[in-house]
This record gives sequence, structure tokens and C-alpha cells, in this order.
Amino acid sequence: AVPLVVAVSTSLAARSGLLIRDRSAFERAKDLQAVVFDKTGTLTEGRFGVTDVITFSDVNEDEILGIAASLEIRSEHPIAKGIVESAKERGIEIKDVEEFRAIPGKGVEGVVNGRTFRIVSPGYLKENRISIEDERIERIAGEGKTVVFVMENDAVLGAIALADRIRPESREAVKKLRSMGIKCMMLTGDNRFVANWVAKELELDDFFAEVLPHEKAEMIKKVQDQGLTVAMVGDGVNDAPALAQADVGIAIGAGTDVAIETADIILVRNDPRDVVDIITLSKATYRKMF
Ligand code: ADP
Ligand code: MG
Repeated sequence: AVPLVVAVSTSLAARSGLLIRDRSAFERAKDLQAVVFDKTGTLTEGRFGVTDVITFSDVNEDEILGIAASLEIRSEHPIAKGIVESAKERGIEIKDVEEFRAIPGKGVEGVVNGRTFRIVSPGYLKENRISIEDERIERIAGEGKTVVFVMENDAVLGAIALADRIRPESREAVKKLRSMGIKCMMLTGDNRFVANWVAKELELDDFFAEVLPHEKAEMIKKVQDQGLTVAMVGDGVNDAPALAQADVGIAIGAGTDVAIETADIILVRNDPRDVVDIITLSKATYRKMF
């Protein structure tokens, strides 16, 4: 039988917008020493708007956006949605794409009118030893924006900068957790300039940037190897293995099905401050049971 106090607090939790799927994880929440947040869609709203289009060639801005949107219309990524929206706003034609494929954690690829294009991360360029020295890119990176590059074969035609917003609730969540002595960290596939900017804004204890999807769970394991009991908070398909690895896996309610199915606890209100409630409620529930 479920002890009365646990049953009561489970319904209390439900009323606070917490869906507890694994009661033992809820119990472990009282011992948490670190919380690792995914960036995009968790600490930030995950809604990107295009702020700058930069060309490195005789291809103009609208053409850069048009190529990108033609590929991105096939992707579910928040960056993709921002690019497509911006192209539509500017009345740019979206063309048919063939041989589309996602390059997980790095970008997308496809063929338009017989030409092969790729929209990729700065990390992808680095891996392929392509260096871009451009003061416009440096300035944009310093502003905490996400940058993707538009390539045709091995040539970089241009770049698109996008901005997302930090959720106002994230500040309060981090502040409260840290005042409880809990370390706050961030994990992201995005570039280290953006990560550094968000980490500074939120006064995070640590962050890991340019993390590939398959590395997210390994990063959680590394934090656990430091002897810390750790929660992971995420929303994306890429976050699922990390949610499973963490001592407490927490999904944002508006997240992907995969994240929600993998998590121990779901934040129905999509509010990172509810992580504080999980811990407080867990402490109150299990404190006197031993
Ligand atoms: P996050 O951890 O922020 O959810 P992802 O692992 O999904 O990030 O993506 C990491 C990086 O890979 C993005 O910041 C972007 O540079 C690149 N990327 C991923 N998907 C796409 C896409 N559809 N179009 C362009 N770039 C992408
Ligand atoms: Mg995310």
C-alpha cells in the first residue's frame, strides 16, 4: 500500500502541475545536488527569430534564406521553424527538396534544382576544418545569437543568425535552486558563445556547449561520477537518453513525446520554477519516514 503521506503529496504535486510517473524518482528528488537543464526550449522559449542574414558570396540575402527555408521546411527543429517563418514573411519562394536528410545535432542536407546544399552548425564547419574569419560573424556570436551556415558542396555561401529568448521564469528557478545549495548547469548542442551568454545571464554554475545528441547522457554520467545526485530537465528527442541516465529525469510538458515518455516527472506548466517545487515537496514528503 502507498503510505498516506505519499498519496497526499502525489495529489498535491498534481495540483502544482507536476505529473509524477516514477515515485522512486520523486523520492530521490529530496537528495538532489545538481540540476542540469537543456538550453533550447527549456531555459529558453525555443522560438527562434531570424535577426541577420549574411552573405559571403554573390548570392543575395533572399537567396540564402530561400535555400535554407527549402531544406528546413522538412525539419522539426526550432531553428528550422524560425528560418521558414522568416522566409514566408519576406515572401520568399520555398522550393522542392530531394534527398533530404537530417545530420543529428549538426544540421540538414538536401538537393534543390540539382544542387546540394547543407545548413549546418559552427561545430560542423570546425570538424571539416573550414574556418570563417568574418567580423560580422564574430559580432553576432558576441551578442549571444545562434548562427547556422548555408553551404553548397564545400563552399560557405552565407550565414543566418537567430535569437531565442531566455524564459523569465528561468532566472528565478536558478536563483532559488542555488540558494538551496543545488548546482545549476546547462547542456546544449548550440555554440559556446550562445551558451556562455545564457550561462552568464542566469548565473549558472557550469555549462557544456556543442554537445552532440549522443553525448548528452555521457555528460550526465560525468556529473554523477563527481558523486552528485543529478536531475536532468529537457524537452527534445535528443534529451531522452540524458533524462533516462539522470537520477531524476524531468520533461517540459510542451516537449516532444519521446522526452515525455522517458521522464520520471513532467512539468505540465512548462515552468522551470516547478523544479524547485518537486524538490521541496519531496523533502516534505519523505523527511519523517525513516
Ligand atoms: P539543442 O541542444 O540546443 O537542442 P541540437 O542538438 O538540436 O541543439 O542542435 C545543435 C546545433 O545543431 C544547433 O544549434 C544548430 O547549429 C545545429 N542544427 C540542428 N538541427 C538543425 C537544423 N534543422 N538546421 C540548422 N541547424 C541545425
Ligand atoms: Mg531542447
